[in-house]
Formats: sequence, C-alpha cells, structure tokens
Amino acid sequence: MQTLFESPLRAISSKNYPFSKSDSYYKAYTLRNFKSIPQIQKLTAAQIEAIEVVGRIFPFKTNNYVVDELIDWQRVPDDPVFILNFPQKGMLKPHQYEKMAQLLKTGACKKEIDHTAMEIRWKLNPHPAGQGLNIPIYNGIKLRGSQHKYKETILFFPSQGQTCHAFCTFCFRWPQFAGMNDIKFAMQETNLLIEYIRHHPEITDLIFTGGDPLVMKTRVFAKYIDPLLKANIRHLKTIRIGTKALSYWPNRFVTDDDSEELLDLFNKITRSGKHLAIMGHFNHPREMAPEIVKEAIQRIRETGAEIRTQSPLLNHINNQPELWGKMWQAQVELGCIPYYMFVVRDTGAQHFFGVTLDEAWNIFRKAYQKVSGLARTVRGPSMSAYPGKIQVAGVSEIQDEKVFVLQFLQGRNPDWVGRPFFAKHDRSAKWLTDLQPAFNQERFFFEAD
Ligand SMILES: *Cc1c(COP(=O)(O)O)cnc(C)c1O
Ligand code: SF4
Repeated sequence: MQTLFESPLRAISSKNYPFSKSDSYYKAYTLRNFKSIPQIQKLTAAQIEAIEVVGRIFPFKTNNYVVDELIDWQRVPDDPVFILNFPQKGMLKPHQYEKMAQLLKTGACKKEIDHTAMEIRWKLNPHPAGQGLNIPIYNGIKLRGSQHKYKETILFFPSQGQTCHAFCTFCFRWPQFAGMNDIKFAMQETNLLIEYIRHHPEITDLIFTGGDPLVMKTRVFAKYIDPLLKANIRHLKTIRIGTKALSYWPNRFVTDDDSEELLDLFNKITRSGKHLAIMGHFNHPREMAPEIVKEAIQRIRETGAEIRTQSPLLNHINNQPELWGKMWQAQVELGCIPYYMFVVRDTGAQHFFGVTLDEAWNIFRKAYQKVSGLARTVRGPSMSAYPGKIQVAGVSEIQDEKVFVLQFLQGRNPDWVGRPFFAKHDRSAKWLTDLQPAFNQERFFFEAD
C-alpha cells in the first residue's frame, strides 16, 4: 500500500513565480463554447454527447485555470477534477438521459428542450433538507437572501455572489444556477440584515455564501462589509466567507486587478477585532498543488484571516482514505484548518456521487487515523439534514444489534447537540431519511414532538 507522504502533491503544470497580471486572464467555458478547449479533442463523440446532454439539465461551467492547471488530461475521462466540472452521463437516470439525447439528436426546438430539462430537474429533488425554510423575518419583512437555522449563525446570500468561477457537478445548489428562480435566494439590502443581527444577540457568526461571494469585485463586496463593520455590533464575533476561489481561481488573491484591495478588506475586518474565517472548499489534494494556491493561502493568512476547509465525500472524485489524509495533511502544512467532511445531500445526482454512510464512516476513520492530531480538527462524516448536522460517529453493536452511532454537530434545537443516538445499521443507507431508529424505538428522540 502506498503511504501517505510518499507521493508529493502533484501539480499538472509548473507555472511558478513571479505571478503576473497576465496570469489573470479568466475565461469561462460553458455548453456554448467548451468545444473550443483544445484538450476536448481527446474525447470521443459519445463523451462529448454526454456533456451536451447532461449539461442541459445541470449547470455546467469550467474555466481556463481548471482546464490548464488542475485537470490531468492524460487521465480523462476518469480524472477526478474533470468529473468535478464536466457533466457525467451517470448523473442522469438512463431513461432521463435517453429522453434528452433523443431531443438533441432530432433537432428539437429550444422550447421543447427547456421544457424537458425542467421536467427532469423537478424529478431530481431540487430543494432538499428544507432549503428555503428558515428565512428570517424582521419587522414583518422577509429577509429573502438569508437563512437562520442554527441559533448562533446566519447565512447570507449576497445577490451579486450567486455564481462561481466554475460549477461543481455535484453541487446541491444546482437549482439556483439552473434558473429555477423561485427557490433562488437573493438580497440586495444589507441594512435589513444588520438590523436583524442587531436584534438577535444570540448570533455570533455571519456566513457569506452563494454561489461564491468572492466572484464579486472587491468594491462590490466592500458595500456589504463596510456598513457591517460600521454598525459595530458587539455580539457579532465572526465573519465567514464560503468560497471555492482558492481552488477554481486562486488568482483572485494574487493577480486580479483588485486582489490587493480584497486582501486590504480582509485586513480591515480582522483589524476591527472580528474573526475572519475563509471557509475554503477543496475536494481533491490536487487543487492544493499549484504554486499560486500556496501563494494565495500565504497572502490571506497575512491579513490575519484563518482558512478552514471543507468538502463532501464524493464517489468518482475523492472516495479514498489516502486522498483525504493527504489533503488534510497538506492543508495543515499550508496553515489551513480542516473543518468538515460532508455526506452528499439527497438532491440532484446523489445516485452518482453519493457514498453509503457505512462507507463514508470507513473512509473518514481510515483517513483520520493516518494524520497528525493537528489535522484531527476535522469533523464528519456529517449530513446537513433537515433537523441539523448529524455526524456518523461510528458503527457499533449494542444488545446484539448492529447500529450506527450518530450525533448532532448542529441542531435546530441546540439541546440536541452532542447527544449520541442510534439507528439500525443499514449497509445501503445514504442519508438520514434512509435510517430507522435502533432498539425497536418508534422514532428518533428529536422527532418526539
Ligand atoms: C453548516 C451550517 C451552518 C454553520 O454551522 P457550523 O457548524 O457553525 O459551521 C450554518 N447554517 C447552516 C444552514 C448550515 O448548514
Ligand atoms: S463552488 Fe460551491 S456553490 Fe459553486 S458549484 Fe461548487 S459547491 Fe456549488
């Protein structure tokens, strides 16, 4: 067996210092222009068809950095980063795939294609785990661009941050990007948010999320941050920014026209006495390999911000313990703090990317056993389910019954957190809703009322 540290993180190309502004030429590829990517010539006609068919249902976007620096084209179509961005045939059920493929082959009109795409999307459980619930209300006004589910944290979806530098094929927010507008969050106004937080002293953390809030130009992002700092709300201790820019566009922090201003803004936050946590999304150790990522991490940390990392566990992309061990260890080496390993949610292509809870626990445990204590800040595997974030703490046998040991890491009711509870072991279960309470109980304790 290969040990963890034998193989260094492998960068695909060797772009190195000094990074120049000319590296900051960002080009997006979508269904419209992906065939102009030179490396696409390596794909077979069937592989290209799969992109065109599945790309009608799920959002598809990649960019020149991902194509040139992250994807290992020698390994395509099995390359994990390729699978991370390019729509995969298996993401649709065979009959769904055939239906769309047939429409495209017979030259159906756009209206018919869009109609069928929408029909298939509605079959793919587009709003899981009560998303769209927990919308806070202030003075009778709904704060449509936010979500307040756990007592101490509020999520905020700035309206100009509702896209990403590239789209992850597995993303549970795919309906937002696929134009299913009625469940899209958006909010222009920070004032309402500020007033809401001011009147909720239990809120300590504000999380900017999206999409990716760092697709915003710095001057746009500053319009959210500056009033917030000016409001000087004592009980708000932490600002978090959920982003995948370190992976999909690290130039954001190094060579973009407004990189310096962004770092200055980070510094302004930490100088104001608030904790700034960049919640970096990494799915594969290769995303950490390019020199420019290391440079970006360094620059962010120099502002006084911390970087915490999270990722779902994904079939076809990262379902190996060695890979997770390597990723966490590399993160610690670069000064990042491993935070969450998630279980793929029950939406979209869960049948393709999902891993059973049994397998998830095994992968987590094997990876966790291999890394130093400093990387064991990570928690998981965790399901962001309707009642809360539930960790699969293990599999055990109690009174001759094989069970999953579970616990809340976050709960709708804070009192649920940290209480172990038990479900019947089920080898094929992939989500909380697949589980039954153990010991012939009728319901789980949190379902009591
Ligand atoms: C995960 C999550 C949070 C943050 O929870 P932490 O455990 O503090 O990281 C907040 N709101 C929602 C809806 C979440 O899913
Ligand atoms: S970067 Fe985040 S929000 Fe954007 S597609 Fe990927 S997982 Fe979804």
